[in-house]
Amino acid sequence: MAEDIIGIDLGTTNSAVGVVESGFPILLADQSGARITPSAISYINCDAHEVGKVALRSRGSGSIVVTSAKRYMGRRYQAVKGDDFCVPLVAQDDGSVGFQVGESIVSPEQASSEILKHLKKVAEHQLNREISKAVITVPAYYNDAQRNATKLAGEIAGLEVVRIISEPTAAALAYGLDKLDESSRVAVYDYGGGTFDISVLEMKDGVFQVISTAGDTLLGGDDIDEAVARWACEQTNDLEYDQLTTEQRERLLDESRKLKEALTENDTAKLQIPFFRAGLNINIELSAEGFDKLIHTEISRTAPYCKQVLLDAGGDVDKVILVGGSTRIPAVQRLVKKVFGLDPDVSQHPDEAVALGAVIQGGMLSGALREMVLLDVTPLSLGIETLGGLMNVIIPRNTTIPCKAGEMFTNAVANQKSMRVRVLQGEREMARDNWELGSVDVHFSPATKGQARVGVQFSIDENGILQVLTRDVETGKDTILEINSAAVDVDDENVEKMVSESVDYAFDDMAERVFTEAKLKAEELLPAVEAGLAQVGEEMDEADLNLIRDAESEVKEMLKQEDANLLKKAVQKLDKATEHMAAILVEKAMEAALMRKLEN
Ligand code: ADP
Ligand code: MG
Repeated sequence: MAEDIIGIDLGTTNSAVGVVESGFPILLADQSGARITPSAISYINCDAHEVGKVALRSRGSGSIVVTSAKRYMGRRYQAVKGDDFCVPLVAQDDGSVGFQVGESIVSPEQASSEILKHLKKVAEHQLNREISKAVITVPAYYNDAQRNATKLAGEIAGLEVVRIISEPTAAALAYGLDKLDESSRVAVYDYGGGTFDISVLEMKDGVFQVISTAGDTLLGGDDIDEAVARWACEQTNDLEYDQLTTEQRERLLDESRKLKEALTENDTAKLQIPFFRAGLNINIELSAEGFDKLIHTEISRTAPYCKQVLLDAGGDVDKVILVGGSTRIPAVQRLVKKVFGLDPDVSQHPDEAVALGAVIQGGMLSGALREMVLLDVTPLSLGIETLGGLMNVIIPRNTTIPCKAGEMFTNAVANQKSMRVRVLQGEREMARDNWELGSVDVHFSPATKGQARVGVQFSIDENGILQVLTRDVETGKDTILEINSAAVDVDDENVEKMVSESVDYAFDDMAERVFTEAKLKAEELLPAVEAGLAQVGEEMDEADLNLIRDAESEVKEMLKQEDANLLKKAVQKLDKATEHMAAILVEKAMEAALMRKLEN
């Protein structure tokens, strides 16, 4: 297998990472389930301590928190001195800008490398393999020094940066616009947390080129938060936004952001902060309409840049796509429609599109995506449910069609007369988490447990029709279930959802499978041990018996505790403890057989 190349959106406010997994670009979630990581680093005694949400939360509790480091990548101190930033800006020996973090100086590349290191870890943890290569996105306007600084940050994090691509290009890839006709033009409107970028791309010789770009590095969702916070102060007697302490301001801005985000999906939302200040509770409500009015001036600031890029590009565009969390605001979408005279394409997650594009680019470079496009394959695994509710895969995902595969199953209980074969599709370990395509009852002649044998064969023809043939081996009787193209035609979104869920839940799923398998084994072993003891227990010595009794009660205890690994260990122990007994049983059986022979 080719080596993975992860894709990273190293954003000013938020960052994200993903990879092409079994032919599909997906974003990877951290241990708390989040696919978006705030670009924040907390330092304690000058050491980078935490990254992301945890770092943000530690503000005001003794650590120094750096956010928006991206603004200073590859910049000269002279060009930025005097900026209002979360930590003091200082000049480094080579004239570049540095951050004063307590006693030490941290470069923007070092700070960014902490975020990259964190994302690398998230990917390695989710995929359970080492990662050493990445594609990282940068703003279209980044110059050479800024691009090199981004590369350097990657290297410090232990990543070979195989390519730097521009954010609008990545977004266009995520929207699948790489299939547009020659000389088609796309505008990418990117309204993030701290910056606004607008670019026009043109398709030339099958690749995108940025033909004009404009924007404002100090215009973003943060300003909307501030507008809301100032409004909140006006609504509350006795509050002056400019008189607030740093902590009060941060708290109010946090709540303002929550209010803003709630208003993209609700008609009204509340901003409540009890005990904001001695004797003062904030409790106000804002309607979506009121919000639109409040931010009208702010969001309208993006319009002149749009007109500028269109002018620079020399004409209209065929498509407009939206990127950046702030484009979730309905009023922003209306503004874009008005300025461009086009309905914007909102088919992708605005805050994930750039990362997804980086992932796609990585997949194209590693070869992981090419395979997918060329072959007609099963998009998801196909199998049947087996004992304990487990998924038993018969045709794995990404198998080229036509194809055929089968397996033999036996009855789980004695004198069972039929077995239900449930045909499943999906990547999860437990049957219930996959999708059922159909089911059939197979009848067979009653037999003792494990005696009846049923063959199940899956075959998919070149039209994608799945045929499930089940056969009672004893009578040779066949049952055929035909499933139309559902085995092959699954829309991309559902496939992506299934695959990314299987990665997200990989750990829990595996634990449940291990537990179920160990439980089935235990349920088989326990009665067998009892039967064996009844037969030969008296001939065994006390030490052996104690060993078995101990192991047996441990298995019973672990069944109650529902811990997969402990149960597995206990079952293995019981298996081992009964080795001697099993030998005696075998000996006995052979003796009996020999006796029968002699008697005849
Ligand atoms: P960047 O590319 O600058 O790192 P993002 O694209 O992640 O940033 O955008 C972050 C901004 O998007 C923040 O200001 C955040 O509050 C805003 N945002 C996220 N979700 C919503 C929402 N539902 N409504 C309004 N703004 C949102
Ligand atoms: Mg961004």
